[in-house]
Amino acid sequence: MAKGAYIALIAHDQKKDDMAAFARRNEALLRPFSIVATGTTGGRVLEACPSLDVIRLKSGPLGGDQQIGALIATGEVSMLIFLVDPLSALPHDVDVKALTRLATVYDIPMALNTATAEILVRTLTATDTQN
Ligand code: PGA
Repeated sequence: MAKGAYIALIAHDQKKDDMAAFARRNEALLRPFSIVATGTTGGRVLEACPSLDVIRLKSGPLGGDQQIGALIATGEVSMLIFLVDPLSALPHDVDVKALTRLATVYDIPMALNTATAEILVRTLTATDTQN
């Protein structure tokens, strides 16, 4: 993974328990990396794994997805794990689309469900540490 890059974590409300469990399962793999997360997701991840380095941005519906999109556009995100809820209507659906579009434009490894997230996180190795 590129030096200086963040791992970005976002989970919709119905997927936040899954994200917390994912972070707990993979805490050791994630620990060497800096994580950026939308506000509530970041809070849940930190609660589950206080040892992780998590920068909390705004909540998704208040602009957090767009903040992560901006970090992707400036080359600061190397991996996006975005646990989406496909069964609920979301007020910020356009932001979700914009974010996944930017991740595609910039060819960022992107997991939209837990199964893919588990595979992606296993590509992280100890030699990928940032500092
Ligand atoms: P949240 O935002 O982590 O602040 O809930 C996620 C989202 O719904 O985009």
